Amino acid sequence: MLNVIVVGAGIAGLSAAIALRRAGHCVHVYERSALNNEIGAAINVPPNAARFLLAWGLDPARWRFIPSRRVSYLDPFTLEPLGNIPARPSPRSIGGCELYYTHRVDLHNALKWMATREDGPGTPVTVHLKASVVGYDSSKPSIVLQGGQEIVGDVVIGADGVHSQASEAIVGRGNDPVQPIHYNSCYRFLIPASVLEEDAETRFWNEGADGWGRLFIDYSTRRRLVTYPCRNNTIYNFVGIFYDENMKTDDGENWQRSVDIAQVLNEFSDFNPKLLKIISPSDIEKRLEIYNQLRWKRATAIQILSMAGLEQSELVRDDLAGVLERDEVPMDLHALYKFTFAFNIVDASLSAMREYDPNFRLPSDFFERDVADVPGQ
Ligand SMILES: Cc1cc2nc3c(=O)[nH]c(=O)nc-3n(C[C@H](O)[C@H](O)[C@H](O)COP(=O)(O)OP(=O)(O)OC[C@H]3O[C@@H](n4cnc5c(N)ncnc54)[C@H](O)[C@@H]3O)c2cc1C
Repeated sequence: MLNVIVVGAGIAGLSAAIALRRAGHCVHVYERSALNNEIGAAINVPPNAARFLLAWGLDPARWRFIPSRRVSYLDPFTLEPLGNIPARPSPRSIGGCELYYTHRVDLHNALKWMATREDGPGTPVTVHLKASVVGYDSSKPSIVLQGGQEIVGDVVIGADGVHSQASEAIVGRGNDPVQPIHYNSCYRFLIPASVLEEDAETRFWNEGADGWGRLFIDYSTRRRLVTYPCRNNTIYNFVGIFYDENMKTDDGENWQRSVDIAQVLNEFSDFNPKLLKIISPSDIEKRLEIYNQLRWKRATAIQILSMAGLEQSELVRDDLAGVLERDEVPMDLHALYKFTFAFNIVDASLSAMREYDPNFRLPSDFFERDVADVPGQ
């Protein structure tokens, strides 16, 4: 039995740890993060990887993996199938098992469980969190943790990701990235199927979507929007891939960088409007803001007025002044009634919404009868 040190509890580190544990070794994984904020979108687990994960007992259903059922190459302008692309052979027929779509977090959790589960074969792997490795000595071999503690083992495995320091320290050369040539940028985002189901214009996306990979490709401008579901078909993964002349330098590539969705939409703005509608964010936040603008001032004033009898509004006049404009403060009983009863929330909401969206219309059956006008208005 060897004492194995693995640096990094990512997909590679945990997979190595599972294999070594099952082979009868004692494995300690050192991970610099707390592993409590794993991120990522969807990831493919193709037959070559599924082959050993399934054999180790990974249950795809338990971890919400879904088998890829079909793949379509589509024109992003017409949404029709692109010609001249041979049908994809079934992954099972070529690789011997399914190609699964999974959320990276689900895959990571599955691996973590398989590495550390008490009841599996071998000794459960020990994962040391918040343990940043800052040095290596390949002659012992050993690692040094931030804080100075040195840990010696029989074998050290560097699984510290694409920007590996282990590689530099042990092999003497880093993992320099290969310069991208055809595509060099990508936006990725997730959209819940339930959100698309709520809107009559986007609901079509969910029809027959089980395990369906869709690639919308414009070869002439080198842009592709790739999408497939994950997590039991409850979430769609989207990746917008393109070439950006200004993106030639590696200025700190990472998976966490976020961009404004407007930037994404702009990149694909000439794609079919039905497709753009799918990837456009819902405007719920904006609508709530409009609602709050309409609500806040009036609701506050009414609350202040309720602190005195109707005929005593002069008692709260100073308080009202902090909320209403001077000429809006009701000065007598008649003005007070008017302030309360003559407010037309229907007109106020419609005009606020039309200012935001000139095409805004209420559904024709929203009201059963005419809305009463305010006398004198
Ligand atoms: C945050 C993130 C999100 C991703 N999202 C997607 C996605 O949505 N879709 C997709 O297809 N691919 C995604 N990838 C890429 C894919 O997951 C990677 O190709 C794959 O994770 C590589 O596995 P890895 O174990 O080699 O590296 P990583 O997953 O990067 O794991 C390396 C681990 O080592 C740890 N580590 C690094 N340095 C040290 C150190 N000095 N001391 C201790 N620990 C250290 C890191 O914290 C990390 O947990 C993502 C990668 C990351 C890191």
